[in-house]
Amino acid sequence: AKSRGKNAYQVFTPELARSVHAREHISRELHFALEREEFSLRYQPQFQGQQLIGVEALLRWHSHVLGDVPPGEFIGVAEDTGLIFAVGEWVLDHACRQAAAWHAAGQPLRVAVNISPRQFARQDFVTLVTAALTRHALPARLLELELTERLVVEDLQGAAAKITQLRQLGVLVSLDDFGGGQSSLSYLMMLPVNALKIDRNFVVNAEQNEAGQRVIQAITTIAHALNLHVVAEGVETAAQLSLVSSLGCEVVQGYLLGAPMSAEALTGGRTLPAPS
Ligand code: C2E
Ligand code: CA
Ligand code: CA
Ligand code: CA
Repeated sequence: AKSRGKNAYQVFTPELARSVHAREHISRELHFALEREEFSLRYQPQFQGQQLIGVEALLRWHSHVLGDVPPGEFIGVAEDTGLIFAVGEWVLDHACRQAAAWHAAGQPLRVAVNISPRQFARQDFVTLVTAALTRHALPARLLELELTERLVVEDLQGAAAKITQLRQLGVLVSLDDFGGGQSSLSYLMMLPVNALKIDRNFVVNAEQNEAGQRVIQAITTIAHALNLHVVAEGVETAAQLSLVSSLGCEVVQGYLLGAPMSAEALTGGRTLPAPS
């Protein structure tokens, strides 16, 4: 087939050879990362107007052999090798623990956790989420799960049923990287999610041309008609902030408002509002 021909060609490029090599290294070291305690979480603030309303937990891996490896390079390997189950459990557990600590300190802050498609596909996924909430005595409304459209492609009905169960627990669910992949309106209509996260590329496009602005406008109009919040990701400049706000995105996240940071940096800094 056409795609096989393309891959066969790519095997002989040095770049791919290097990246295959890198994947082997990553895969080998990833096996030990948990027991060596090489993972940590960073938290990136999400704002609604001036108010900090939550954070996204982002995984960091400092390998003592490979150094810092960005998630874009190891998450895929973890998915392919099945390590994502253990890694995903670790992320969920640590994010819930941190959210519970903030809650106990009188500064409740919702924590959003990225869920990989294979993790979500597990039969016992909802049970694992319930267990994490119970283990840390975390109110479900302080946990948000970020799902990507990739996970629903194969089994839309099954995904919708699982999301319904999560919503019944009180957990919030958002659709990440919306507009990036196989987005379709039918997914949006069938999945009982709370929010959409608009891919950073859309934010950049909107700044460049009017068509890009109309796309965001259309997404927010549809989302609001379905009672969904819209989060704009990757907002880097004041111009982008005012643009996406004017186009109907009510929540914003990006370097302009705060990079992913340690829990201490977040709570120690000025970003956290006084408890109400
Ligand atoms: P994502 O979920 O779309 O996360 C947003 C990414 O954009 C993060 O990259 C974040 O650091 C980056 N970012 C935030 N603000 C800005 C900005 O203003 N400008 C730009 N250019 N980038 C910004 P990061 O941390 O490298 O994560 C990359 C991806 O890896 C994530 O994309 C997510 O898909 C995945 N990932 C990260 N942590 C986890 C995890 O715990 N579990 C799973 N399954 N995936 C994860
Ligand atoms: Ca995300
Ligand atoms: Ca995203
Ligand atoms: Ca992304």
